[in-house]
Amino acid sequence: MEFKLSEKEEAFKSEVEAFLKKELPPKWPEMSTHWPGGYGSLESTNEEAVKAAFTFRRRLAEKGWLTISWPKEFGGEEHSYMEQAIFDERVSYYRAPGMGIATGIAGPTILRFGSDENKQDWVQTIAKGEIEMWLGYSEPNSGSDLAGIQTTAVDDGDDFIINGQKIWGTIAHLADYAWLIAVTDSEAPRHRNASLFIVDNKTPGVTIRPIINILGIHSFNEVFFDNVRVPKRNMIGEKNMGFYYMMTALDFERLMVGIGGFKRLFEQFIEYVKQSEQDGSPLGKNHTVRKKLAEIAVKIEMVYIFFWRTASMLDKGLVPSVESSVLKLTATELSRALADVTMEILGPYGQLMGGSKDAQFRGMAPRGYLDCISATIGAGTSEIQRNIIAMRGLGLTKK
Ligand SMILES: Cc1cc2nc3c(=O)[nH]c(=O)nc-3n(C[C@H](O)[C@H](O)[C@H](O)COP(=O)(O)OP(=O)(O)OC[C@H]3O[C@@H](n4cnc5c(N)ncnc54)[C@H](O)[C@@H]3O)c2cc1C
Repeated sequence: MEFKLSEKEEAFKSEVEAFLKKELPPKWPEMSTHWPGGYGSLESTNEEAVKAAFTFRRRLAEKGWLTISWPKEFGGEEHSYMEQAIFDERVSYYRAPGMGIATGIAGPTILRFGSDENKQDWVQTIAKGEIEMWLGYSEPNSGSDLAGIQTTAVDDGDDFIINGQKIWGTIAHLADYAWLIAVTDSEAPRHRNASLFIVDNKTPGVTIRPIINILGIHSFNEVFFDNVRVPKRNMIGEKNMGFYYMMTALDFERLMVGIGGFKRLFEQFIEYVKQSEQDGSPLGKNHTVRKKLAEIAVKIEMVYIFFWRTASMLDKGLVPSVESSVLKLTATELSRALADVTMEILGPYGQLMGGSKDAQFRGMAPRGYLDCISATIGAGTSEIQRNIIAMRGLGLTKK
């Protein structure tokens, strides 16, 4: 077992790093308030910042790096998954906008399951970074148990007519298209009754309403579909196979953990601790502080090991469905642990947000403390990940 990157991989890592340093605004990582694992940071939801992210993605697309592991005929670079992982790690370390829903989730699912028409219609535009999507899975009465969705898509000539409501659609108001699941056969058994669609947000009958998140930011939306006509060619793959495709799409989503962000934030916090004093003595000499930081360091290494392992499995043609759940679970629980520890170490100062003159560590801790709650819920809760690990990984049957 070799636990280091090859020469070629090291060279690729340096190339990515040089590109990021050149293309990102100066001091970008320091300006960012993003909490790794969280969804509600300003730069992921603020309109100007999202537009800047889309522009940066187009720069990546020009370089062929937005879809680096895709086949060349579909706008990719055919890099290995390990190189894709190296790329994702560096991009998240620099807190740069990397893959979005279109490139990270919809594109790979279309490449695997889409019809020739689907590939022709969507793959190139996605690879060029020209469109962004939002995920239309959850409904008011259906989250963990997605088989309970009630939104319907009824066959009507050249179209399907969609009726229903989706909820928690992150950045739906800033995206172009929904990647949406709807029931296409209400008589068929659960999990064999729904199909995936791409729906243009501008279609008549689509209404997007804001939901304000715990940080006071408009990141979520509830979206209503009232007799929305969608051309049949916007259905992905085969009819009634939606849940099967979505399970794979969810595995892709769970791999997008932004691992480098944890390392970067932790390094910055260690620097802060080294330079700070509490009650007249260096913070870094405090036994409890040292112990807590060491525990986080171990957790970060653990997530890294799962991350590299998942990439190497993909390169061997193995399907990391359990590993993607382990990665999602450990990374998002790390997001919470990191927030808990920074809050504990900062003590009462930890509660001061960025605007306060006495705020420590750029006021990141209280934002992260609130933001990280969502990390263990989005893309499937921690309980659901543990269920998947128990069933698929350990072979334990459903109760
Ligand atoms: C930040 C964020 C972003 C999101 N973005 C999107 C998005 O873009 N698009 C989208 O469609 N959805 C999105 N969601 C919704 C998310 O997928 C759901 O919130 C999640 O799947 C949980 O569903 P629910 O909220 O209905 O909770 P429920 O499913 O009602 O769960 C409630 C509680 O019961 C537990 N539970 C449920 N079933 C089981 C079980 N079988 N075993 C053990 N425990 C169980 C859960 O773990 C949870 O603690 C987002 C959510 C968050 C927090």
